[in-house]
Amino acid sequence: MASGEEAESRIHTAAETAAAQLNALAARLCELNRPGDAEILEAQALMAVDPAIIDEAARRAREGVDPGVAIVDAAEVSAVLLAGIEDDLLAARAADLRDVAARIVRVLNGTHLHLPAAPSIVIADDFPPSLLAEMPRGVLLGLALAGGSPTAHVAILARSLGIPAVVAARGLLDAVRGAATVAVDGESGEVVADPEIAELQVLADRQAVRGERDRAASARRGRPAATSDGKRISLLANIRSPDEAPRALEAGAEGVGLYRTEFLFLRRQSAPSEEEQMGAYRRAMEAFGPDRPVVIRLADIGGDKSIPYLGRPEEPNPFLGVRAIRLGHESRDLLLTQLRAIWRAAGLAGVTPHVMAAMVATIADACLLLDLRDEARAQVCAAGQPCPERMVTGVMIEVPSAAIMAPELARMVDFFSIGTNDLTQYVLAADRGNPSLVRFQDALHPAVLRTVAAVIAAANAAGIPVAVCGELAGDPAGAMVLAGLGVGELSAEAGSLDGVRAALAGVSAAQLDALAAESLAATDAETVRAAANELLGARR
Ligand code: PEP
Ligand code: MG
Repeated sequence: MASGEEAESRIHTAAETAAAQLNALAARLCELNRPGDAEILEAQALMAVDPAIIDEAARRAREGVDPGVAIVDAAEVSAVLLAGIEDDLLAARAADLRDVAARIVRVLNGTHLHLPAAPSIVIADDFPPSLLAEMPRGVLLGLALAGGSPTAHVAILARSLGIPAVVAARGLLDAVRGAATVAVDGESGEVVADPEIAELQVLADRQAVRGERDRAASARRGRPAATSDGKRISLLANIRSPDEAPRALEAGAEGVGLYRTEFLFLRRQSAPSEEEQMGAYRRAMEAFGPDRPVVIRLADIGGDKSIPYLGRPEEPNPFLGVRAIRLGHESRDLLLTQLRAIWRAAGLAGVTPHVMAAMVATIADACLLLDLRDEARAQVCAAGQPCPERMVTGVMIEVPSAAIMAPELARMVDFFSIGTNDLTQYVLAADRGNPSLVRFQDALHPAVLRTVAAVIAAANAAGIPVAVCGELAGDPAGAMVLAGLGVGELSAEAGSLDGVRAALAGVSAAQLDALAAESLAATDAETVRAAANELLGARR
């Protein structure tokens, strides 16, 4: 074989080996009950054999460029393009792509990374999620990164695997250079270089208290969530795929309060077919059965989750653009297909479907949702397919105008689900992904809580239930404030449910009422958080 062809063939073989390694790591995460995280590595496996990169690398290699250099250069062209787009998700993909290129080069050169064999804390500028997944369990005691962000894949994976992690610690590398020992507290965000004995003792004591707290919390899983004097709060799980159902059930979820279906639409070349969608929704419904609702959110496309195959023009402010239900005005078929898939899935699973739409801002948006729902049902019935009588239909309250119109909206739908992530972003006019705006991003700000209280009042007046499915619901301090305000249903990541259940069990309904009153009267988020933490601390 001529040397150009030989180099080309080595590139293809190395790319396939790297993809196989990444798929094996993904399978390992699935075995650990982490299918959502496995998707990160599955996506990287696809990048490893992406023809746009591999064919370009092969072309360069045929021209005489070293195969390793050709791979890195070809990947870099795409990575630079991705990193340049103002989109957190795509920027994270640039880091993932560079990681994939480095892996292919290692395969080409027959080299291996020397991962620590002894229990260690990793300190780095950044750390690819695939390496984190590769570290043997028990070896990685903690992670401290100068770069990254709380929403970077490596941070999500570390959280999910229970590895203490501190990210975006500017100046970290200088601060720890030359240190013999480093301690990391992922909960408080502290990294201590060469800690004194007394400091180590404080950290060890905290670790012991948290270990005890976590054990006690997981022991409550079989019991319904309630305050110490028996006021019930329903705890449900947020999921991105039916693969997450077993973990949610194991965590004691009473159903799914938010199934983020847009993940089915991401990282692919065309929209999922009605059949494929129906299969996914049916699996989720069957996993939870007829008595535990699965609230399917219609694809929340737009914002930071743009989908190239829809062919939509770029928007200067995507979070204020054509997102979620707004797509129904322009891409009616997209939502109709999804709704038909939900009706059919529920018909086959023998359950009553629950659906909600994100980004509802006006009465017309809610009307559109109801129209699409009914039109989809008529189509399913006309095709002679089994179809339930009704669909429990709700709207997310995450746009200030919807909160203001809540009394009218409450008379049109079956339930509200408050999305505190976006509600905070829109009430405080602070991009939820902008690290320079952290001081505006705490959903415990009284402006957000007063909005939530008004929405609850409107829901109560109309006699419909109100849930919260934003991150605040999974934060023990936030969950206490929300329960005090009168939220009857909290939906959060499965891993947060133990902590919320334990927090609620440690306080009485009267204490929650008092906390809510104090929170509504406060003038900043810090005061609210301090009051909630004091109550949390008092029960510990
Ligand atoms: C929210 O905005 O609070 C929410 C739950 O939706 P997402 O985070 O998916 O936008
Ligand atoms: Mg939202």
